[in-house]
Amino acid sequence: MPELIDSFNRPIEYVRLSVTDRCDLRCNYCMPRDFHDFEDREHVLSFEEIERVMAAFGELGVKRIRLTGGEPLVRKGLPDLAARLAALPGIEDLSLSTNAVRLAKHAEALVRAGVSRINVSLDTLQPARFKAITNGRLDKVIDGLMAAKQSRFQPIKLNMVAMRGVNDDEFGDMVDFCLEHDFTLRLIETMPLGESGLDATDHYLDLQTVKQQLAERYDLVPGVMAGGGPAKYMQVVGTNMHIGFITPISQHFCESCNRVRLAADGTLYLCLGQEDKLELRPLLRGGISDAGLREAIVGAIARKPEKHEFREKPLQVVRFMSMTGG
Ligand code: SAM
Ligand code: SF4
Repeated sequence: MPELIDSFNRPIEYVRLSVTDRCDLRCNYCMPRDFHDFEDREHVLSFEEIERVMAAFGELGVKRIRLTGGEPLVRKGLPDLAARLAALPGIEDLSLSTNAVRLAKHAEALVRAGVSRINVSLDTLQPARFKAITNGRLDKVIDGLMAAKQSRFQPIKLNMVAMRGVNDDEFGDMVDFCLEHDFTLRLIETMPLGESGLDATDHYLDLQTVKQQLAERYDLVPGVMAGGGPAKYMQVVGTNMHIGFITPISQHFCESCNRVRLAADGTLYLCLGQEDKLELRPLLRGGISDAGLREAIVGAIARKPEKHEFREKPLQVVRFMSMTGG
């Protein structure tokens, strides 16, 4: 199998695929509450176009795809797309990031379609706080999580964005919830992305201190998880539970970056924190051949930037996470 290698010698084997930039929540670190400036529907790649691009990536050595957004379950027919992607040659692992609001309805179909692993965003277990952060209802997310547990997703990971003054009193409660339900917890540092990123910067919390706090309450040892990506894991001794720390700001992991992001409009973003990109939609709709498509992708990967500069230039990235494909 050929390999996609960038100019810093990093093999690229993972694509985060945003199937929509729309969302049924408004997490305040991700999308401004009054945001409606979504991509024109005709600019959003069709399932056929997505399948074609992902087939090209599969032929070039990409093994893993994560469906994301916006909220991927807002896109009609997502399980059908999942089944088509899972069947592509070379693709070994298909996963989903979701807010779980609509998960109860779709969990079974997604598992049947070949989605093996799932990450659910959950920053709080308190309904009023959940409403304040996301403008949505916590009970729907809990229903979605319980449906995921009934289905055969393994593992189920909760992504909690750690925010000073917002949910920094809830890490212990979240660990206990995950212990009870056999979930993995991943804590994430807020990143300055788009306008809402300013808010995220105000609440930034260095996870190194959170790790120390948790170590006082739980017996933690370094742990390893398959498909862990940039998270550094600790295991709660005597249990199977892992806590991941994702620290793009305090300890960035760009030197081992293995991913690119395909936005819903067909823009291939080479780095979450930089503007370097390749517009694939005009190529696809302009009749490019399969060989031409692969060549364009290889050329773009050669331009993948060395690292993000969230610390050095915190206001540099003007798009929101929901646009890039978080
Ligand atoms: N809607 C799905 C969800 O919430 O899981 C998938 C897309 S969402 C953009 C993917 C992840 O990005 C979520 O876990 C969310 O918490 C994270 N995220 C969004 N904006 C962020 C920011 N400014 N800093 C850190 N994480 C962020
Ligand atoms: Fe929607 Fe996910 Fe962004 Fe929250 S983090 S607004 S759920 S896309």
